[in-house]
Amino acid sequence: MGALAIEQVTLQWQGPMTDAAVEELSQRANARDWEPNAHVFLSVTDRYDALRIGSALPAFCSVYTFDLLKEVIGQGIPASAWRRKFDHIYPINVPRLEIETGLDVLLLDMPARSLAQLPIGFAYVYKAVRDGNVKLQAIDVDIIAYHRYHSRRCLNYIDRIESAGMLHPQDPWQAENYIVWTDKKFIDYFSDILDEVATKVIHAKPKVVGFSLHQTSHVSVSRVVESLRRELPETQIIVGGMSCYQPAVAGRIFPQADYVVVGEADTVIGALAEALARGERPHDLPGIVSRYDTEDRMFIGAPLPHNLDIVGPPDYAFSNLDWYVNWNGYRLMPLVGSRGCGWSRCTFCAERFNWRARTPEKVAEEIEYYTTQGFRDFVFNESDFNSNLSFVVRLCKEIVRRGIKANFTAQLRVGKDCDFEYYKAMKAAGFSCLRFGVDGLSENTLLLQSKGYTKQMVLDNLKHCHDLGIFTEINVVVGVPGETDADVEEAADFIIEMKPYIGRVAFINPLMLFVGSVYYFEPERHNIKFLGDKQELYSQYFVSLPDSSWYSENPYIDHNIRQQRFFRIIERLRD
Ligand code: SF4
Repeated sequence: MGALAIEQVTLQWQGPMTDAAVEELSQRANARDWEPNAHVFLSVTDRYDALRIGSALPAFCSVYTFDLLKEVIGQGIPASAWRRKFDHIYPINVPRLEIETGLDVLLLDMPARSLAQLPIGFAYVYKAVRDGNVKLQAIDVDIIAYHRYHSRRCLNYIDRIESAGMLHPQDPWQAENYIVWTDKKFIDYFSDILDEVATKVIHAKPKVVGFSLHQTSHVSVSRVVESLRRELPETQIIVGGMSCYQPAVAGRIFPQADYVVVGEADTVIGALAEALARGERPHDLPGIVSRYDTEDRMFIGAPLPHNLDIVGPPDYAFSNLDWYVNWNGYRLMPLVGSRGCGWSRCTFCAERFNWRARTPEKVAEEIEYYTTQGFRDFVFNESDFNSNLSFVVRLCKEIVRRGIKANFTAQLRVGKDCDFEYYKAMKAAGFSCLRFGVDGLSENTLLLQSKGYTKQMVLDNLKHCHDLGIFTEINVVVGVPGETDADVEEAADFIIEMKPYIGRVAFINPLMLFVGSVYYFEPERHNIKFLGDKQELYSQYFVSLPDSSWYSENPYIDHNIRQQRFFRIIERLRD
């Protein structure tokens, strides 16, 4: 009998292995003199770690993991040792995080967006900077984090990951789980990738780093920026995105930044990036707030492109469309045919921006291209897809004319002119699900919220969709100033009456006092009172005011009453 030559390569590690640890172990292993046809046993219990180490070893090796036990012991493995299998897409080649040196501008989209959808806003920023005279790299860190997270979860058949005593939602990227991304303890689970980003940016030393900032990325962006400020004090930090839409709070939303781009960045970010790359520190720019601004400057918004064809479709050249697939194989492509809202009057809403559109035929052309890339499901990101009916009809006709076979969803306002023929055109184009921001469900609250339609119109819109086989969802807002108990009962009655036409009540929202809403700007006119100094509250909060910090009078409605009304609606619907 010949002797077996056995060598051992060891790395002491506890918990999920970081990419750096995997690399270190692989390097140590690869430094050995390999016998052809060597057998390697990976004594690693995590299947995602084993996969990464195994794929870094020479191709001629035979690699074994604890999966071997299935063959060796088989039935002898106790039932309690097994996990339930489920379908998923892994393993896939998770994109690597690599940052070039010598960059003028580095753009980073940090965790988390909604699902594994393409970063559409980020892609527009990339497009605007790309056209300038700068050396640019853009990285979608979020999609890397998404696939790392779900690779580990799915390859180990873990339904829900647990860290630091916290049981994660099955998919934290689902929109309804957005709140976990504001929890620092939860974000600690992603320290691996956040530290990796910071380390690699510090090594690359770009002149400018731009971050997309929204409620669910704020903590992860802060973590990385903290390191950059310490190690790269000369690097200019720009933030922009959904959290930076309100000029009233832009200067305070992210004090660690040098520049905050307020609202749409298309017309200003390119010139800013070029100036910073040249070493300039411009100030008092339209659409931008910066720490270099002169005191008491008067803020002027960025010029908005009125013909959105000038902006055109987003540019995803920095990424790879194949990466954008959910852990369960679902792929959803976001679209933007128009921006802003044609109505812009709802009193609680903070998305009241001028409506502008692209040529519908060009949007259809873009959709057709994505279908050639394997996308079948699309979501329009518009705040109100019904802002301009002729835009929608032209788009639908062009989708049909091109023979595009796809599913579309959109969020929209009830329209008084949206008749059966209108929704028939949408159905023919492939709209299979529409979410109506009905919001007010009594005649009084529809007026109070300035929704601009009646209950009869709500009923008609939903019935048309139902009759055409379009799945409908509705959103509801309760607790607006002036709402009475009778309104709440009327709303519940109305939802019950419309039950045959409602596929799902998606959200019932107790009113929030959003920065940028009519209620925020005109609290007195709506009998809103504050518990504490209003100016102090306004200077302290950037997205919305805490629920318990305000109430309305005539009738009296505070945080508790809003909650009670929320539960009352649920109770009535349950019955
Ligand atoms: S709630 Fe919808 S329809 Fe109303 S202003 Fe906001 S975006 Fe427009």
